[in-house]
Amino acid sequence: MTNQEVLQGLKQHFPKPYTDLEFKSVYELLIAVILSAQTTDKKVNQVTKELFAKYPTPLDLAYASLEDVQSCLQYLGMQKQKSKSITQCAQTLVQEYNQQVPDSLEALIKLAGVGRKTASAVLVKGFNKPAIVVDTHAARVAKRLGITEHEKVKAEKIEEDLKRFFKKEDWCYISQVIVLFGRYICLARKPLCFECAFIHSCEYAS
Ligand code: SF4
Repeated sequence: MTNQEVLQGLKQHFPKPYTDLEFKSVYELLIAVILSAQTTDKKVNQVTKELFAKYPTPLDLAYASLEDVQSCLQYLGMQKQKSKSITQCAQTLVQEYNQQVPDSLEALIKLAGVGRKTASAVLVKGFNKPAIVVDTHAARVAKRLGITEHEKVKAEKIEEDLKRFFKKEDWCYISQVIVLFGRYICLARKPLCFECAFIHSCEYAS
């Protein structure tokens, strides 16, 4: 398939990109994406309501008691590690960025708890800057659609393949919908091929 064919197919399913994470600022987005590691967006939304009400700014979170933050995150699991990451991250925002979230990959990946995937998600959803987010869903879909041959452990290689395949102007859209497509249509087990736009061109169709 060409990049346009893939794009059109994805647009049939998701004409407009959206994210399941709830946030009202780039600061909230950054913290929510850090917290979303190894859990679902739904669970993150359940804890961030209380978390952002208690700590509405990076300054509030930077000087919060770790025990209090941990109790907000209890429901998520990994609360010790995640509390440490988000408070350290907030401290850096306060000390180095005047409480603003930086808008470059290089700066974002230096923040506590932020890897390439998180940084790219913040660039795309927070700043509308071109980046490619490779999570487990994007990795699976890219492979099934023949865009990459790499397995999900090689996320950077998959990112390179996706960047080569799609035009830069489409990266933001692709980053958001490829995840949704993997989460709701091209499921890991039992993909919904019968309702998929790619059923006649996908080698994995069942
Ligand atoms: S046809 Fe099935 S396996 Fe192929 S992309 Fe669609 S849902 Fe995924």
